[in-house]
Amino acid sequence: MAKEKVLIVGGGFAGTKAALELCKDPHFEVTLLSDSDNLTYFPTLYHVATGGARANASIPLKTIFEGKHVTLRNGHASSIDRHNKSLTTQTGQSYYYDTLLLGLGEVTNYFNIPGLAELSYGVKSIDEVEKLKAHLHAQLLSDHKPDLNYVIVGGGPTGVELAGALKAYLQRTAYLHGLENRPIHIDIVEASPGILSKLSKDMRRVIARQLRRQGIHLYLNKRVEGETANELNVNGKPIQSHTVIWTAGTANNPFFSLNNFALSYNHKVATDVYLQAEPNIFVLGDNANTPYSGMAQTAIYDAIFVAENLRRRAKGKRFKSYVPHPPITVIPVREGWAGISWGHVRIYGWIGWLLRQAADARAFHYFEPWSKAMPQWFSYGAGEAEQCSICSKQFS
Ligand SMILES: Cc1cc2nc3c(=O)[nH]c(=O)nc-3n(C[C@H](O)[C@H](O)[C@H](O)COP(=O)(O)OP(=O)(O)OC[C@H]3O[C@@H](n4cnc5c(N)ncnc54)[C@H](O)[C@@H]3O)c2cc1C
Repeated sequence: MAKEKVLIVGGGFAGTKAALELCKDPHFEVTLLSDSDNLTYFPTLYHVATGGARANASIPLKTIFEGKHVTLRNGHASSIDRHNKSLTTQTGQSYYYDTLLLGLGEVTNYFNIPGLAELSYGVKSIDEVEKLKAHLHAQLLSDHKPDLNYVIVGGGPTGVELAGALKAYLQRTAYLHGLENRPIHIDIVEASPGILSKLSKDMRRVIARQLRRQGIHLYLNKRVEGETANELNVNGKPIQSHTVIWTAGTANNPFFSLNNFALSYNHKVATDVYLQAEPNIFVLGDNANTPYSGMAQTAIYDAIFVAENLRRRAKGKRFKSYVPHPPITVIPVREGWAGISWGHVRIYGWIGWLLRQAADARAFHYFEPWSKAMPQWFSYGAGEAEQCSICSKQFS
C-alpha cells in the first residue's frame, strides 16, 4: 500500500501535535519541516525572561519525536508549487507532498513605528528573552545612575504576565547583587481604553487592580509614536526609558501573502469547514481564520481535528466539520496569583495559580509522555543558576 505523503510545515504547537497524531497511523508517511529545532512553549517565555529555566519554554523536536516515525527536517519554507505539489525552502531544498499542513505561527509587527524594530526588546523567542535578561542586568548594575524605568507596550496577556513577574524579578536581582532598595517603575502602555480587551469587564477590572497594587502604572488609550535611545514617545509626550518591551503587535506569517493564499479581513488564511485553504492544503493554529485563533489550545485542537479527518479519509470515511472550541483563559499576574476565565466561571488567586500550573503540565503532556513532561514542568518553579552577564556572579 502506497502511503500518503503528509508534509507538515512549522514545528510549533499545531505542526508538532499534528505530526504526533499522524505518525501513529501506518497510512501516512510524515515529514515535519521547521526552521527551528525546538518547540517553543510561548506561555512560559515571560518566566524565562524573569529568571525561569530556559528548558521550561523550549523542547527539542528530536526529543519529542525520539523513536517515532516522523522525518524531521530543518529549513525555512519560502515557496509552494501547487501544480507539482512541492514546497521549496530558502536554501533551494524541495519537498513533495500528497497532503500539506501549514502551521507557521505569527510574526512580530511594529506597525512601522519608528525606532521600535531596532531599539525595543521582545519576548517572542528564547533568543529575545535572553537578550532582554542580559539588558535587565546591565540596567540594574550600571553605576552612578541606573535607569530603572521599564515600559511594556501592550496590555494583552503577554504584557500583563510579564509586568508582574518583571517587578518581582528586578527586586530579587537587585537584592542578590547587594544593591540597596532602588525604586523600580514599570509602566504598561495600551492603545485601547482597557487592558486585556478580549476578556470580560469584571475580569479586566480585577486584574487591573492587582497590577496597580503591585505599583504597575497603566497608561490606557495611549498610542506609541516612536522610540529613541532614551525615550518612548506616547501621544506626543516622552516617557524616559532605556527598556521598552514590545508585546503589542503580531501579524500573520508572510508566507501566505507571498504565496497568494486567499486571506480574510484580518489577514489570516481563509479556510473551508475542514480547515482546508485549497485542495489538500490545510492551515492550522494562528494562521487560520477561526474564532479562537491565536491561542495555543486552539492550535492543538486544530491539529487533532485535521489529523482525525485525514485518518477518517484514509479509511474511506467522510470529513467531519470544524466546531470552534472556546479556550480557557488563564492570566498569571504574579507568583501565586492568576485569574481564570472559563465560560461564566471566574477563579482568582492561589487556586487560579495552581490551575495554571496544572494546565502547563497538561500542555507538556500533549507533546511528551508523563515521564518527560513532569520533569519539564517541575523545572518551572526551580529557576536555574544564572550567570550574570555583567558581574559574572552566579546565583540561583
Ligand atoms: C509570548 C507569548 C505568550 C503566549 N501565551 C499563551 C498562553 O498563555 N496561552 C495560550 O493559549 N496561548 C499563548 N500564546 C499564543 C500561542 O503560543 C500561539 O497561539 C501558538 O504558539 C500557535 O501555535 P502555531 O503552531 O500556530 O504557531 P507556533 O507555535 O508559533 O509555531 C510556528 C512554527 O513554525 C516555524 N516556522 C515559521 N515560519 C516558518 C517557515 N517559513 N518555514 C518553516 N518553519 C517555519 C516556527 O519556527 C515555529 O516553530 C502566547 C504567545 C506568545 C508569543
